[in-house]
Amino acid sequence: MDAHYSNWIEISRSAYRKNLEFFKNRLMPGTDLSVVIKANAYGHGMLEIASLADEFGVKIFCVHSISEALALRKNGFRQRIVVLGPTIKCFAEAAVKNDIEVVCYNIENLELYEELAKKAGRIFNIHLKLETGTNRQGISGSALLAFLDVLKKCEHVKLRAAYSHFANIEDTTDHSYAKMQIERFKNEVSLIRNAGFSGFDLHFASSAAATIFTKTHFNMIRLGIAQYGLWPSKETYLSYITEFGHGDEHILTPVLSWKTVIGQIKKINAGDFVGYGCSHQMTRESTIAILPIGYSDGYDRHLSNQGYVLIHGKRAPVIGRIAMNLTTVDVTDIPEAAVEDEVVLIGSQGDQIIRAEDIASLAGTINYEVVARLPEHITRIIVE
Ligand SMILES: *Cc1c(COP(=O)(O)O)cnc(C)c1O
Repeated sequence: MDAHYSNWIEISRSAYRKNLEFFKNRLMPGTDLSVVIKANAYGHGMLEIASLADEFGVKIFCVHSISEALALRKNGFRQRIVVLGPTIKCFAEAAVKNDIEVVCYNIENLELYEELAKKAGRIFNIHLKLETGTNRQGISGSALLAFLDVLKKCEHVKLRAAYSHFANIEDTTDHSYAKMQIERFKNEVSLIRNAGFSGFDLHFASSAAATIFTKTHFNMIRLGIAQYGLWPSKETYLSYITEFGHGDEHILTPVLSWKTVIGQIKKINAGDFVGYGCSHQMTRESTIAILPIGYSDGYDRHLSNQGYVLIHGKRAPVIGRIAMNLTTVDVTDIPEAAVEDEVVLIGSQGDQIIRAEDIASLAGTINYEVVARLPEHITRIIVE
């Protein structure tokens, strides 16, 4: 490893391929696979993941913002790109020019798209977000009817799809709320059809629904966290294995590993304190290793005196407080540990593994946040 990396992220091509194949094989006939690569591909690196997805023939990318979409275009990706978050008006022209598809649910934006697309002599594709019970973005009822009235008159804006998003599918094994949302969705889609629209796609499912309810696949799934080999939640995993069994073929493989190296090793005495606030005191003569990683690199400060890393396939506990760029671990029981040895923060080494979920439970959050907050400055490397 080049010396200038104090820490780095490895992205496994074979794990990524395996996860995508798992979902390709589960898709209902006529369903497209889109991959959600917002938030720097959940911390995995947007361009790195886009290039792997491209290798495996993915034809649609979903992102949150127009800036992410433009970065993909700038880097030569010709796939369809759908922006799931709001696009502010000053970016509307860039969206039209770069053939980006955007979520739309307000008349002001719709009229602006019509004007810009007309000027550019193009057809602009929108995805209409329907409100079905999540109460985030989207419209229903009279707002939907008013929107459709304007859309009907637009000659340069095409209703490419209508879609919605589940509110309560990851956190429970009770799927009654999800079923109610599907009913509302179907009713709203009938309203759209009755208003004279046809030839548009429907999509609803993110990872959890795509995995456990194939009937929510409609024309496209929006596959986020599961493409990276992470389960949306324990409940999703439980629902899944209850229905489909425990076989190896059902196991998702985490794509990301996060590593650093030992910066210094030294012996300290029984009774010595470690780090800011003297929050840890040694009870025996100890060997400690200093790691060039801290909370500014995304190593959560909640792991102070709680987390552990892998060195020579063994667990080394984090002792004392995690600092901005340095963390100390106890290697007294790993006598072979030496300066510049590889340290695993997330991933496996020997027969030990640290999962994003393990860090999430120590830090009081979810696997999504653990990976999505890995900072952009960390180098991502694609490995086999
Ligand atoms: C983030 C997001 C997804 C992906 O969700 P996962 O649970 O990661 O699969 C899908 N759809 C929308 C609208 C999203 O915002």
